[in-house]
Amino acid sequence: MDIAENVACVREQIAQAAAKARRAVDEIELVAITKTHPAEKVREAIEAGQTLFGESRVQEARAKIPELPSNLRWHFVGHLQKNKIRHALPLFELIHSVDSLALAEDINRIAEEEGLHPRVLLEVNVAGEGSKFGFSPEKLRDQMEGLLALPRLSILGLMTIPPLAEEAEASRKYFVQLRELRDRLQTEFRVDLAQLSMGMTQDFPVAIEEGATLVRVGTAIFGERLKPRRD
Ligand SMILES: *Cc1c(COP(=O)(O)O)cnc(C)c1O
Repeated sequence: MDIAENVACVREQIAQAAAKARRAVDEIELVAITKTHPAEKVREAIEAGQTLFGESRVQEARAKIPELPSNLRWHFVGHLQKNKIRHALPLFELIHSVDSLALAEDINRIAEEEGLHPRVLLEVNVAGEGSKFGFSPEKLRDQMEGLLALPRLSILGLMTIPPLAEEAEASRKYFVQLRELRDRLQTEFRVDLAQLSMGMTQDFPVAIEEGATLVRVGTAIFGERLKPRRD
């Protein structure tokens, strides 16, 4: 397993997908997802020039981030539990996974107490899977007003995790749905939702073709996780 080689390979695939979609490659950021992988493996990715990383558990991040250089950027991509918000806020420059109005309100309140202005994405369950966190597209529209009224939050865009599938092409329709939802919300609420976080190891080239600005890639860089999980 050569992590530096894997990073280069993923970057090459990002460039190819961007070229195919006639997009500028610098519109797309690679978030290397380090969950379950130790700091030594993260260092190998840093050697390859990677500086943006993602974690999905606050506890794991609290242990790992201080072991690594302080100039790295970290994004949170997992389900954020209410009792972890205070610890998460200072660690992460972007939370991809705000999945309910209640969570957004809690983040807003704690950010106020801590004097912070968190940047967030809203997670949308576009396929309507019962097992997944996230706003349904209808609920998001209904609650958008309330979300935008939270003064401490900068809402920069949307995120989705499509249903597990063998074929990357199976994800395309969900990526299209997320982009179209984003377009409608921008028009209706006169907001800028520039960021689309979509695409993982399985399907990130397709996500880029459909407008992803942040791709979250773990396995293709760090290899299989001991206990595979998508949270
Ligand atoms: C683990 C995880 C990823 C990375 O998944 P891979 O299939 O290993 O690339 C991306 N997004 C989220 C939210 C994750 O939890």
